[in-house]
Amino acid sequence: MLVLSSPSGAGKSTISRALLENDDRLSMSVSATTRKPRPGEVDGKDYFFMEPVDFNLLVNKGQLLEHAKVFDNYYGTPSKPVEDALSEGKDILFDIDWQGTQQLAQKAGDDLVSIFILPPSTKSLETRLKTRAQDSDEVVARRMSKASEEISHWAEYDYVVVNDDLERCIGEVKAILKAERVRRIRRTGLLQFVDALREGY
Ligand code: 5GP
Repeated sequence: MLVLSSPSGAGKSTISRALLENDDRLSMSVSATTRKPRPGEVDGKDYFFMEPVDFNLLVNKGQLLEHAKVFDNYYGTPSKPVEDALSEGKDILFDIDWQGTQQLAQKAGDDLVSIFILPPSTKSLETRLKTRAQDSDEVVARRMSKASEEISHWAEYDYVVVNDDLERCIGEVKAILKAERVRRIRRTGLLQFVDALREGY
């Protein structure tokens, strides 16, 4: 389980897309949200967009792995797709905030790797939010005022990557994923192989 968190506008979605390209072992967790879709966003692909009453139902039925209020909306990770992907031996990428990351870390322990993406500057964050042109000036201002709070949680993450150069940043995140995949604790299937090696096969 690979988590990417950052303040809004630090390039998380672009990095996620790059990670998912040409990697059959990685799938993206699609969150449920009460936020309204932005232009171009597709229900079931970007998010499961829903009314607060339906979101509450998911919470009450215990069907969310984690959930949190971010800005003025609720966001949560449906459990079932994550369980299915993990049982198929796939890795899963999560684009969730620090609150969700804390909840997942408690549940998943060593199965979770978390990366915090930092923007190179406050100015660049604002420029990105504005040029994205998907949110009103008021929403952009609110997201900017929340950025510092989100950034304050950077030290809770396993890795921190500064997105001053997109290609390098993507390269670093890919390297983290690659290294984490070969960590001894994740290579449970190797026991028999090693036994056979030691017996001379
Ligand atoms: P946006 O509205 O820009 O798509 O997302 C706003 C924030 O909500 C981002 O920081 C994103 O990482 C976070 N977020 C998206 N989905 C989830 C989720 O399922 N759980 C939590 N805790 N945060 C989420």
